[in-house]
Amino acid sequence: MKWSFRLFTLAGTEVRVHFTFLLLLLFVASQSFFSGQGIPAALESTLFVTTMFTCVVLHEFGHVLAARGYGIRTPDITLLPIGGVARLERMPRKPSQELVVAICGPLVNVIIAAVIWLGFGMNAVFHPGYDFLQSGNFFQKLMVWNVFMVVFNLIPAFPMDGGRVLRAVFAMFMEYGTATRRAASIGQGIAMMVAIYMLLNHTFQPMLLLICFFIFMAAGQEAASVTQQEATRNLRVSDAMLTDFHTLPPDATLRDGVELLLAGTQQDFPVLDSHGGMQGMLTRHDLISALAEKGPGQPVVDVMRPCPASTQPASELTQALESLSAGDCPAIPVLDPIDGKLIGLLTTENIGEALMVRAALMKLRS
Ligand SMILES: [Zn+2]
Repeated sequence: MKWSFRLFTLAGTEVRVHFTFLLLLLFVASQSFFSGQGIPAALESTLFVTTMFTCVVLHEFGHVLAARGYGIRTPDITLLPIGGVARLERMPRKPSQELVVAICGPLVNVIIAAVIWLGFGMNAVFHPGYDFLQSGNFFQKLMVWNVFMVVFNLIPAFPMDGGRVLRAVFAMFMEYGTATRRAASIGQGIAMMVAIYMLLNHTFQPMLLLICFFIFMAAGQEAASVTQQEATRNLRVSDAMLTDFHTLPPDATLRDGVELLLAGTQQDFPVLDSHGGMQGMLTRHDLISALAEKGPGQPVVDVMRPCPASTQPASELTQALESLSAGDCPAIPVLDPIDGKLIGLLTTENIGEALMVRAALMKLRS
């Protein structure tokens, strides 16, 4: 994640902080300071917010350690003003394992709240308008915060832990993709109901509406990405790659690129060195904007962008698709595993076509 820096590394997981999180601390401190309570209040509320987020980190470590038990590593956790994001290598596909990994986060908050309760015997007075920045008993507020985290995270909607719990439970009785789509629709339904309730009752809360919108989008994304994974499963790069394509030599100019662009339907052109090795990619977008700035005589090597990711014909399509959407190159070169020569291009359009063909053939068979 850009704009974040490392705090510390614990058990092989890097804990990072996004710089907007520091803005949040600054905001909280200045709000307490200017409300007329001076420096002690500013320090107290900053300390409290820091402790709140320590609980968030501990929550994430609950997930991380549970996943570790199944051999899944977590390279990093990033703290954002909206919470923590643990980047697990992958989610376990076994429903019972996903259930455990999802539950171990909120479980940490249950334990923290229980320890405070046992130690201090306080009653949590939780209500939706609770103000954590109001001065009050530090530990009581911390207990309320942990109870809130349990309730919030167990809302059965992606990307909350509750959404994963729901998917895992469904997946015990049905196929993984169907379980995900069903869990996602339930999450979207909840988000929509809350938003409609707010609008009908004129209890408009911008923050809550934003969360509803965020949940709605995230649930749709989760369902779409799993559907895509299902669709590309068992497919190889060679099943979907473009094999009839044009390339540009290193001494080509933008004029040559324009000629190729207009002659066919190909949009992005690999630039090869004199030995046929991949040098970079001239994309349609870069070609057009450079043409307006520098003219048709400009060499393509000055305009092309490097494409560090490459793949091989026998690689899994799901994996290649991931690096295609992660990078900023619209096409991934497919290289021969023996001599490293360019033998194909992988583009989203071509993958789309391969999937349409596959769907048609499956229809024919059934
Ligand atoms: Zn969680």
